[in-house]
Amino acid sequence: HEKRTTSVIEEMESEVRSYCRSFDAVFSRASNAQIWDTEGKMYIDFFAGAGALNYGHNNPQIRNKVVEYMLGDGVTHSLDMATEAKETFLEKFNRIILAPRELSYKVMFPGPTGTNAVEAALKLARKVTGRTDIVCFTNAFHGMTLGSLATTGNKFKRAGAGVPLSHTSFMPYDGFFGDKLDTVDFFEKMLEDGGSGLETPAAVLLETLQGEGGLNVASSDWLRRMERVCRKHGILLIVDDVQMGCGRTGTFFSFEEAGISPDFVCLSKSIGGFGLPMALTLIKPEYDAWMPGEHNGTFRGNNLAFVAASEALDYWKDGQFEAELAAKSQTIRSSLLRMAAGLPAGEAKPKGKGMIQGLAFRDASRAAAICQAAFQSGLILETSGPSDEVVKVMPPLTIGEEQLRRGLDMLEGCIQELAV
Ligand code: PMP
Repeated sequence: HEKRTTSVIEEMESEVRSYCRSFDAVFSRASNAQIWDTEGKMYIDFFAGAGALNYGHNNPQIRNKVVEYMLGDGVTHSLDMATEAKETFLEKFNRIILAPRELSYKVMFPGPTGTNAVEAALKLARKVTGRTDIVCFTNAFHGMTLGSLATTGNKFKRAGAGVPLSHTSFMPYDGFFGDKLDTVDFFEKMLEDGGSGLETPAAVLLETLQGEGGLNVASSDWLRRMERVCRKHGILLIVDDVQMGCGRTGTFFSFEEAGISPDFVCLSKSIGGFGLPMALTLIKPEYDAWMPGEHNGTFRGNNLAFVAASEALDYWKDGQFEAELAAKSQTIRSSLLRMAAGLPAGEAKPKGKGMIQGLAFRDASRAAAICQAAFQSGLILETSGPSDEVVKVMPPLTIGEEQLRRGLDMLEGCIQELAV
């Protein structure tokens, strides 16, 4: 393999590109948790398309179904015409995912990406309640279009975008003030005290675990109490499961452990099974208040994504996948605890849950240096958090135990090397 220059990308792609600036390689091939550059160097992928590749790169079962469908002249694009591929997806989604969890939702296809799912939920919440305000949380990430951006608590991402969607209020996420403030009590007081200035919102929009915001985990108790406050005040609860859904935290939906019942759920990233763009906004049937055609978009009918998504749902047929995820999550947890214990006290703290965990470094430059060193040794990692201080371990859920351990050993090696 000859090393290909990235100069065309450098010259032609917008200055907004980021990853390839720091990591100099051109990738050409990938399989499950492995990705190869054009020089033939293999990397273990602990990034997994920021959660879009839960079932791995080029998952053979999923790929075969997609190829078979294409070779059979299956309909690829259909807007919202009824197709067999959509019918199969919906039937399986209900049978394998919703019904066994005793969940009942209408499924809306809001467009190809996560931000589309969030926008649709925000818009529908306003329509259903007749209210305008949205409450969201510190360090939240919900997308890059103006509505979802207004609910994203990252000032760097919001910079220069002008006046955000108005009537958006940020409340402190679980743990934002450490143990000093019970943030559900705070929210309840803000709602109930006539002097707080906070209007009753249409909806509360939250992630159960903030993937981009630094792997902050909301406790089940916090989520349940937040749900209770929402019910008491007639506020709709929207869970953005774009990154945490499809098994990232260990269960299909990230809110299963807490046992809450969101009014709307946003899914995207891995719902398309194969890295194909797809998004869902799940709507409690009583709130499906759209008029036909009221909210549409050209790419609602990506049938290749329906085919891939239907096949991916088979991972959830019995409890076996969840059991495997629990074991892998434990491997990650114990390994990160060991890494943190090997450093001076307070330097690195394990965070996250399930198949999205990481180490938060006191010094953010250390996190960047570790990612660089890891890349050189053949491990792809991303950072997250307000200062990019968290090194994120986020492999495909289908990664083999051995490769998972190898990647974690590589990470540990880099941490030790940089500590001396
Ligand atoms: N919500 C969450 C929780 C996300 O993590 C992301 C993407 N990182 C989005 C929404 C936006 O999704 P997309 O980039 O597909 O628009």
